Amino acid sequence: MDRRGTTDEDDATTFQVHCRTVPFFSQAESFARLWPLIEDRVNEVFDNGKFSHGRQVAELESALAAYTGARHVIGVNSGTDALVLLLRACGIRPGDGVLVPAYSFAATATSVALAGGRPQFVDIDPVTYAMDPAALAAAVSPTSRFVMPAHLFHQMADMAGLAGVAARHGLVLLEDSAEAIGMRQRGVHAGLHGAGGVLSFFPSKTLGALGDAGAVLTDDPGTAELVSGLRHHGRLGRTVDDFPTISTRSALPGVNSKMDDIQAAVLLAKLTRLDAGIARRGELAAAYGERLREIPGVLRLPEVIDRGPDSSAVFYVYLIEVERRDELVDHLARQGIGTEVYYPTPLHLQPCFAEIGYSRGDFPIAEAASERAVALPFHPDLSERQLDRVCEAISAFYRGRPE
Ligand SMILES: *Cc1c(COP(=O)(O)O)cnc(C)c1O
Repeated sequence: MDRRGTTDEDDATTFQVHCRTVPFFSQAESFARLWPLIEDRVNEVFDNGKFSHGRQVAELESALAAYTGARHVIGVNSGTDALVLLLRACGIRPGDGVLVPAYSFAATATSVALAGGRPQFVDIDPVTYAMDPAALAAAVSPTSRFVMPAHLFHQMADMAGLAGVAARHGLVLLEDSAEAIGMRQRGVHAGLHGAGGVLSFFPSKTLGALGDAGAVLTDDPGTAELVSGLRHHGRLGRTVDDFPTISTRSALPGVNSKMDDIQAAVLLAKLTRLDAGIARRGELAAAYGERLREIPGVLRLPEVIDRGPDSSAVFYVYLIEVERRDELVDHLARQGIGTEVYYPTPLHLQPCFAEIGYSRGDFPIAEAASERAVALPFHPDLSERQLDRVCEAISAFYRGRPE
């Protein structure tokens, strides 16, 4: 089927829908725009006839190594699997304490539990939304072995500060850099400031696949070899390029978390447009900032902290903090404007961690962010008109003007 083909009737409906609604995110638009590139890459997979262990995953791994500067990139099924396999490859033992932020996507902490460790929560910095180095120093306990900050929304955690605390306490530093493709601090890409990090290619991410996919980033060859074996039933010592002669002996209880070649093909096509998309995201973030600055009820706009030369922020999500957040979300939804609440439940209050024994009040900054933060419609194909509509609707809500 030709994805771009539409009837006149479709065009009329699409037009009306576009006038009225502003979706939170629209992957269909970016796919439609990039479809010729994607189609060529996907056709290569069909021509090769190999949908697993094919050439595209290996090619994507090399391309991502070049993009991030990582010595090793290992493609897996999802960002969550990447975290679990990275923790396992770095030698996590049952019950090991892993210091993680109290405010993040659930996988930052559930990956620790899945790998057999115990999450130890740390409060965040109110501007970066990432783990606060002073709070980390205070949270280290005798059972702590790892620390894994997450880089969220539009900038990285203070890696110099966190690495200093990790070194003083002998902690292995890992990064949940699932959201952080393109983000660098002092010349080093996210995920490469310690023993390793990850990328997620979930469709809504800055580089999104046509389904789930993820990767591990590391400079350490031993870690890379272990992750590469763990993703493929624990078969060590060979790369997937050797298939089908690869050893069938499982040295470790691994999983099946190989990246699909179709996803790799899609990502290879989209990678060529990643920097242009990132630049557009920066322009849209600046436009939002201009229009939202004067609105009463808007408590905080995203700020980028200068981390020195060769540091770059990437707007993955445009997140603001507001008064009466839930009422605003309903008001926008009634006008066809999509939003997402990141993250409505701080990690220490997630039901799956109830038995660890944290309670409300333990991490006030994380809890305040959960109550006040909301992400606005944001993707490279968002039009200025749509952006204006969102800002006008927010302004009308706080200024009490009729809708
Ligand atoms: C998206 C995300 C993940 C998980 O990635 P998936 O590919 O969806 O499994 C982990 N951590 C953070 C911070 C994320 O945003």
